[in-house]
Parts: sequence; C-alpha cells; structure tokens
Amino acid sequence: MNIVVSRTVAELRGHLDLECDAGRTVGLVPTMGALHGGHASLVARAVARCDVVVTSIFINPRQFGAGEDLGSYPKMLDDDLELLASLGCRHAWIPSPGEMYPDGYCTRVEMDGLTDVLCGVSRPAHFGGVLTVVLKLFHQVKPDVAFFGQKDYQQSLLIRRMVQDLEVPVCIEVCPIVREPDGLAMSSRNRYLSPEERDQASVLNRALGVVEDAWRGGERDAARLMALGHLVAAESPLVRIDYLEIRDAETLTLREGEARVGDLVAVAAFVGQARLIDNRHFTES
Ligand code: AMP
Repeated sequence: MNIVVSRTVAELRGHLDLECDAGRTVGLVPTMGALHGGHASLVARAVARCDVVVTSIFINPRQFGAGEDLGSYPKMLDDDLELLASLGCRHAWIPSPGEMYPDGYCTRVEMDGLTDVLCGVSRPAHFGGVLTVVLKLFHQVKPDVAFFGQKDYQQSLLIRRMVQDLEVPVCIEVCPIVREPDGLAMSSRNRYLSPEERDQASVLNRALGVVEDAWRGGERDAARLMALGHLVAAESPLVRIDYLEIRDAETLTLREGEARVGDLVAVAAFVGQARLIDNRHFTES
C-alpha cells in the first residue's frame, strides 16, 4: 500500500477530511522517526484498531534542552516510510519546525507536579514541550485513538492527565514495551551506543528484573527494593544511573515504606551519548 505524505496542515486536512467524511476512524501514532520495533508495535496496534492510521514524524525542538541531542537525533526518513507502508499505515504527517511553530508562536502547555519528578528533574523543559506538541498533533489530526508506548511511562501518564483535564476528545491507548533479545528496551537512541556501551546497557532491564523478582519473593520494603536495583546497575561502569525509583503509578509520589501492587519501578541512565529509560510495574505475585 502506498503511503500518503503530508508536510503542511492544509495538505493533511485535505487528506484526512476525506477519510472522516467516509466515516473512517483515525488512529494517530506520534513519533520522532528513526523507527524501530517499538514504534512498529504501536503502528500495528493502530492498524488493527482503526480504519486509517496516521504516523507523525517530527523531531520536536521544544522538548530538547540545551546540550541535548536535538542536532544529532537520527534521521532515516526513507526507511521509516518503507516500514510504515509495510505495516499498513496510510498517512505520514511530517511537518517542518516552521509549520508546527510559525513566526510569532508563543503558547505552551504547562502541568504542575507530575512534570517535576523522574525525567522532569534532569529535563526540566521536556514535558512542557512534549505536551504542547502532542496537543497540537491532536488538533491537527483529530484522531479517535492515539497510541503511546509504556516505555515512556511518565509521558503517557501526563498525556492521559492532559486529555482528562482539558477534555480533549481522544482515546489514549498505551502499548507494552518492545525489547531487544537481551532485554534492552528498543529506543532510537540505542544507535548512539558503542558496542561496549550497548552490551552494558542491558543492565537496566536486569536491574528492574532483580527488583521485580525480589517483590515476587515477598520483599516489600521500597528502600530495600530500590537499593537492590542500584546494586545490580553498579555492575556496569559505563551506565550512570540518573534515577532508579519506586513511585505511585498515578501520582508519581516516591514510595516510602511498603511497596504496593501497581507501583512503578522506573530507571533512567546515561550511557555514553545516550540517556536511556525503562520501567515496569509490580503486579500481584
Ligand atoms: P519517540 O519516537 O521516541 O518519541 O517514540 C514514539 C512513541 O513510541 C512513544 O509513544 C514511545 O513511548 C514509543 N516507544 C518508543 N520505544 C518503544 C518501545 N521500545 N516499545 C514500545 N513503545 C516504544
């Protein structure tokens, strides 16, 4: 199936209005491109659930901080379009920064509290930029359902919160984390890793696994569970932990005392040029 590429809002609406007029449901998968198996799983889910799927590819300058990888973020548009077409994605929405933020643009979505913890600590402007662009994408595409990855758990929580608070008429579906064979969560940023860094990066999933195993074994003390994770991560000298924490999955409050079913165990680490994240939740054992 051919994929239809839109680069302006006018082009996009021209195509999507026809789909809406025909009564088709629209699914949106927002991405920054350099697509991998994680993105593919979201698109496949969207294709299964919606009549028409739009994947956006936009490296959003407003979610990168000073000194981050905006300038070096991988771009591989031809490969991305081929993958999307093979998955049955009908539309690619690829706006330029100028189309998204024309001269004079000065509005930003801001959220209290939930943006100040976990990734918000080392990336203070990040989530404001994410929420702003995602809200714009919702208005441009007008999807019935939008698909996000559990890998960026905090992001998906904030988006669910924004949709509820601002009464945005879209259904949010969060899809499971797709991993490499050694357990490393797939990420466009894994491309930055040297072979040795790539090897050591798998410690993140192992550390989460050890914490989860201890939970399943009956350990409930949140501080001891976190300490176990840190101990495992320390085995890999090229991995510098930013945070490894257990938090309430809805409020993101740091868990003190006993960990609970549903709690989030989240990790972020700097590995070479990359900052990688991963997470899981405690389930009934
Ligand atoms: P990005 O291109 O990194 O902005 O990611 C676009 C979407 O893909 C986000 O909703 C991510 O959470 C999701 N995603 C990224 N990596 C994975 C993965 N390994 N498994 C599942 N979803 C992912």
